[in-house]
Amino acid sequence: MDNINVASNLTAVTDRIRVAEHQAHRTPQSVTLLAVSKTKPAALIEAASAAGQRCFGENYAQEAVEKAEALKHLNLEWHFIGPIQSNKTRGLATHMDWIHTVEREKIARRLNDQRPDDMAPLNICLQVNISGEASKAGILSTEVLTLADAISALPKLRLRGLMAIPAPSEGIDAQRRPFKALKDIWDELKGTYPELDTLSMGMSGDLEAAVLEGATIVRIGTDVFGAR
Ligand SMILES: *Cc1c(COP(=O)(O)O)cnc(C)c1O
Repeated sequence: MDNINVASNLTAVTDRIRVAEHQAHRTPQSVTLLAVSKTKPAALIEAASAAGQRCFGENYAQEAVEKAEALKHLNLEWHFIGPIQSNKTRGLATHMDWIHTVEREKIARRLNDQRPDDMAPLNICLQVNISGEASKAGILSTEVLTLADAISALPKLRLRGLMAIPAPSEGIDAQRRPFKALKDIWDELKGTYPELDTLSMGMSGDLEAAVLEGATIVRIGTDVFGAR
């Protein structure tokens, strides 16, 4: 199972990103590859690190904290991309560099209050529900500005942008639609917060569509580390 060539997978995914950037007339290397290592052993993260990968994404708070702690010596950048329970915020505040999935002010306040003073502000993206399904996480587009205002007032958090996980769809045109919707919300929010620089969108199956619509971080698990 773990007999997988992480280095060549990283090269292949990076090539796909570069091709999509070119197709979209975007600046080369303007899209960051976040390698989603959830459920995968630390040895595979070490292999990716040895191949030059620096940013890693995790979904489960305890697993994220344990891996960040075990791999401290590698100086990796850790991004949390899973649902956040309020009793798990402390570990995230002390071990993560980014949180992509903030959708409640209460959670943001806890992360702010628990962020150690000697660490840089925690980078934050708001998770937006762009597919409109009741069961999916994320705030509605109408709630984005209010939550952004609340986060901007918290000194140990730094609002960077928006994140979404659209319902899976087939075909690049269908895939582009929700990404464009997120980009439009982001453009509007930048009217108030021009310093925002992050659109976290795109996974293994739809990274090209996301890059065409302006993603600055793509979150890739399967195509880097293999099936889960
Ligand atoms: C698991 C996960 C990914 C990676 O998905 P793949 O399809 O394996 O690339 C990206 N984003 C989030 C939020 C995830 O939970």
